[in-house]
Amino acid sequence: MPSYRDLLRHSGLDAIDARALLCHALGVDHAWLIAHGLDSVPAGQLACFDSLAERRRQGEPVAYIVGEREFYSRPFHVTPEVLIPRPETEHLVELALARLPLDRAASVLDLGTGSGIIAITIALERPRASVLAVDASPTALAVAADNARRLGASMETRLGNWYSTIEPVRRFELIVSNPPYIVSDDPHLREGDLRFEPVSALTDHADGLSCIRQIVAGAVRHLAPGGWLMFEHGYDQGAASRALLTAQGFAGVRTECDLAGIERVTLGCLESRPPL
Ligand code: GLN
Repeated sequence: MPSYRDLLRHSGLDAIDARALLCHALGVDHAWLIAHGLDSVPAGQLACFDSLAERRRQGEPVAYIVGEREFYSRPFHVTPEVLIPRPETEHLVELALARLPLDRAASVLDLGTGSGIIAITIALERPRASVLAVDASPTALAVAADNARRLGASMETRLGNWYSTIEPVRRFELIVSNPPYIVSDDPHLREGDLRFEPVSALTDHADGLSCIRQIVAGAVRHLAPGGWLMFEHGYDQGAASRALLTAQGFAGVRTECDLAGIERVTLGCLESRPPL
C-alpha cells in the first residue's frame, strides 16, 4: 500500500489540488496529513481519493468537488449553481468596508449575490449594517441563505432580477455587485473551471456590459443621497463603466485595480441632486 505522501506525489494533479482532495476524502486537515505522511493508506481511502482525483482530471473544479471555497478567511459552501469565489472579489469587499464605519448603521444591497460571499462578509464585518442579498436564481439564493446561517450572518435574501423586486421607495447607502460581465463569445467560457460554472453568473449573453448598465441605471433610484455604487468588471471594462456612472450623474467616479494591476472595480457616489 502506498503512503499518503506517495499518493500525493503520484496523483498526476497539481500539488495543492491533490492535497485538498485527499484532506476532503479523509475528513482531515493539512496538519494531519503532514503528521501521517509516511503511514500506509487503507484501501477504502485509496478508492475514495482515486474517484475524486479522476473527477479533477476530467476538469471538474476542486471547489465543486469538495463543496467549499475560502473567501475573506471564511469557508463558504459552493455548488455548481453558484460561481466559485475569486480572490479579486475580496478587493470589492474591502472597498465596501472602507465606506461603512463600524459604529454606524447603514443599509447595503448586494445584487446577484450567488453564494453570498459579498453580502455575508459585509454583514459579519459590519454588524450594524442591514444587508439585502438579491439573486435571480432560487438555487443560488438557497446557497447564500445556507452560508449566512452557517457563518452566523444576519441578512435578508430576496429573489429577483436586479432591482425588479426591490420596493420603489427603498434606498441604500451602498449598492455592491459582482455581475456577469464576460462577453458572450469569449473563448474563456469554454476553458478550465469556467466550463463547470453557471453560465448565467459569468456572461450576460451580450457585450458584457448589459447587466452593468441595468445596475447603474437602477442605482440612481435606489441610492440614498451620498450613497455609493461599486461593482466588479472585466479587465477591459473600466473606461466604459466610468462613462456609464458619469453619464448618470455620479461623482468621485474611479476604477481600482486588483493585485495583478488589472482594472477590476469601478465606483462612484450619488450626490444629492439640486432641487428642480
Ligand atoms: N472574474 C470571473 C472570471 O473572469 C468572472 C466573474 C463574473 O463574470 N462576475 O473568471
